[in-house]
Order: sequence, then structure tokens, then C-alpha cells
Amino acid sequence: MSWDFETEPEYQEKLDWADAFVREEVEPLDHIWPELVYTPPSEKVRKVIDPLKQQVRSQGLWATHLEPALGGQGHGQVKLCLLNEILGRSSWAPVIFGCQAPDTGNAEIIAKFGTAEQKERYLRPLLGGEVFSSFSMTEPEGGSDPTQFRTRAVRDGDDWVINGHKFFSSNAKSAAFLIVMVVTDPAAPRGKNMSMFLVPADTPGVTIERNIGVGSEPPGEGWHALVRYDNVRVPADALLGDEGQAFAIAQTRLGGGRIHHAMRTIAQCQKALDMMCERALSRYTQGSTLAEKQFVQGYIADSYAQLTQFRLFVLHTAWEIDKYKDYRRVRKDISAIKAVMPTVYHDIASRALQVHGALGASNEMPFTRMVSGSFVMGLADGPTEVHKVTVAKQVLRGYQPVDDLWPSEHLPKKRAAARAKYAAYLEDDE
Ligand SMILES: Cc1cc2nc3c(=O)[nH]c(=O)nc-3n(C[C@H](O)[C@H](O)[C@H](O)COP(=O)(O)OP(=O)(O)OC[C@H]3O[C@@H](n4cnc5c(N)ncnc54)[C@H](O)[C@@H]3O)c2cc1C
Repeated sequence: MSWDFETEPEYQEKLDWADAFVREEVEPLDHIWPELVYTPPSEKVRKVIDPLKQQVRSQGLWATHLEPALGGQGHGQVKLCLLNEILGRSSWAPVIFGCQAPDTGNAEIIAKFGTAEQKERYLRPLLGGEVFSSFSMTEPEGGSDPTQFRTRAVRDGDDWVINGHKFFSSNAKSAAFLIVMVVTDPAAPRGKNMSMFLVPADTPGVTIERNIGVGSEPPGEGWHALVRYDNVRVPADALLGDEGQAFAIAQTRLGGGRIHHAMRTIAQCQKALDMMCERALSRYTQGSTLAEKQFVQGYIADSYAQLTQFRLFVLHTAWEIDKYKDYRRVRKDISAIKAVMPTVYHDIASRALQVHGALGASNEMPFTRMVSGSFVMGLADGPTEVHKVTVAKQVLRGYQPVDDLWPSEHLPKKRAAARAKYAAYLEDDE
């Protein structure tokens, strides 16, 4: 019997260490330097975070999902999920453990599709936690439909020249390089007309037009850039993978990125549920604690059940990725968890907000940030609707239309077939 929901004791010890370490050493950074998570660290910040990263390395928990050849532990996605359930509580923790978005996904595609030179130039410093990166795909003209992308790269001698603009390129302002998806052959069929380029952020012609904030981030100081590419000249070896291969590369990147968001969202949901329960037990109103009110009990029970279902689904999908090592094969479940994630996060965070009353709606508690974060989870790496379409198409592949007026499970038809099968035993009933 191979179904097992337990964590092996050795790894559980690591998780217990990570839990205490994040709570005591890392979460405080969220309160003193919230805006510096993705900023190349100053000397002062390094003095704090470098020793923390060293402790993570000593525990063998640095970039654990990566293969040892890339500096990780080869732990795979299930173990990363169990770790991310802890790290996702804190903005700083993924950076301190070397597994932050969008760099994990970017590292994965350079590792898979990059040349030896590209790995040395871009991947090594990225995995070492020395630099940040950005993935520049979405355009203002269209995000969920890549056929709307207009940014072009044209061959000029040994170089490519890129022109266009990209929207919501997360962390572009602190990135050392951007991975840019552009049209290289407009005449080629869909899926073969775009290529991926590695573009150093200081290449002439790369300009951040504005940094867009989400939620309560101050205008102009957000982390999602509208990036202009004006006659950006890059050499032929800036191409990541083959010409026309951008769709395949993007699918690899987004497969990992989506499930990593889901893993960290488990942590945020658990945090909201913890706060909801603490408040329910602490607040006394109209003759009882909130914990004794049936409405509030309903909030707690629904939240617990939603979170448990979601968590098991994410863990199972992580297990499938480890087993098949092929995101395309697990596409249905990755899209399904991506599609349910915003609702689970929104529901639990909203209930926790409500149970805290006015305090919950204030900026002295994290709930409004969490609720707006739930909308982000319904958009980043593709809108919920598009993922549901993917799930439905994949599910329908397992079915055939019935070649009959009546459905296969039509009861009169089933009954007639059953009677015919056991006719010899039914004669006495006639
Ligand atoms: C916080 C955040 C970070 C992001 N980071 C990055 C990044 O680093 N790099 C990057 O390239 N992009 C990034 N994005 C962009 C993200 O990938 C896009 O927002 C997403 O793909 C949707 O594209 P869009 O915003 O243009 O919406 P549109 O494509 O215009 O879609 C708008 C809405 O239309 C509906 N819709 C769309 N298609 C369908 C359909 N087929 N069926 C039914 N309804 C549909 C949905 O309700 C959807 O939300 C980020 C977005 C957010 C919010």
C-alpha cells in the first residue's frame, strides 16, 4: 500500500527548524524592510540577510527544488510544497531560502533551455541569490492571449533588434536581466512565431516607463513595470532555446510558477485561519465569545475544509510533477489548482477580516492586502477563466459522445440491458 500522508521524520525535523527560523528570524524583516525584499541588498541589509542565507544553506534547505548540479538538493516539488507552506507566510522567506518568484521559474527555463554560456552568465548569479530577474511577456494590448503580442525582434546581421513594450513585468526595476518573449516570425503558425531572449537590464533602449502598484502599493512605486524596448540590440546568443520556441519555454516556466504560487498561498490561508480562530476565542460580544456563535463556527469550519481540500490538491499535483517530470502531463491539475486558488484565498481572508470587525478592515491588520492578493492570484500567470477552459478541455479528452439518442446512463436503457444479462434468473419474476 503506497498512499501515505506523513512526512518522513528527518525532513519533518528540517521543517520544524524552518518554521521556528522563519517565525523568529525572517518574519521580523517583513516589518522593518517590507519594500526591500526584491531590491539588490545594501551593505547594511547584507549584514543581516547573508548570515540568514548561510544558516539555510547549512541546513540543506537552499533552493531545495533544484537539482544538485544547480546548487540545490533535488528535493522536488512535494518537499518544496511542505517548505513553501511555511515560507509563504513571509515576504522575505522565499528570498532567504532561494526560491522566490519569479526567479525560480526563470532559473528553471535557463537551466533547461540555456547554453553553457547563458547558464554561467545568468543562472549562476541567480541561483547564488546575487541578482534578481524579470519575466517580460504580457503586453498592454493583451495578456491572456499571446496572439495579441506585438513586440518584435528583427534580425540585423548577427544581432536581433527588439521593439515594443511589455506590461506588468514583475521586479523589472530590480532585475539584472529580463527574459523577453517577442514575435520573431509573424508569418509562422501560432505557437511557432515567438522567441525568448535574455536581455541585460542595462542594455541601451530598455526603459521602465512606469512602475505599477497593486493593492495599497503607492502609485509609481509598485513592482510591476511597463517596460519599453526601443531598438534594443542583442547578439544572436541572447536567444534562449531555439527560434520560435517561446511558447514551449513559457509553458515550462509557468507550470512551475503557478504551483509555487499555490504552495505559498496555502501559507497565507493558514495564517488567515489562525488569526480568525485566535480572534474568535478572544472576542466577547452579545453574551458569548465569537467562537460560540454559529455563524463564526461556520466560517471556521468552511475555511478549514476549503484549505484542507486545496492543500491536498496542491500536494497531489506536486507529487505528479515529481513522478512524471513533465508539466504538460500535469497541465490539467496545475490549471485546476490555479483556478481554485483565488476563491480559497479570498474566502478565508474575507472571513478572517469580517471576524475582526473594523480592525479587520483597517491597515493595522493584513486582511485587505490578502483579499487584494487573492485577485492577483486570479490574474498573475493567467486569468482563472482561461485556466478553467484548459481544465475543461483536458477533462473532456477522457470522454466520447454517445452514439444514441439516450445517454449511456439512461435508466430504462440500463435496466433493459441488466434484464437481458440476467434473463435466465428473472424468468420466475415474470
Ligand atoms: C501582480 C501581477 C504580477 C504579474 N507579473 C507578470 C510578470 O512578471 N510577467 C508578465 O509577463 N506578466 C505578468 N502579469 C500579467 C498577467 O500574466 C496578466 O495579467 C494575465 O495573463 C491576464 O492578462 P491581462 O491582464 O491582459 O487581462 P486580459 O487578457 O485582458 O483578460 C481580462 C479578463 O478577461 C477575461 N478573460 C480573458 N480571457 C478569457 C477567456 N478565454 N474566457 C473567458 N474570460 C476571459 C478574464 O476575466 C480576464 O481576467 C502579472 C499580473 C499581475 C496581476
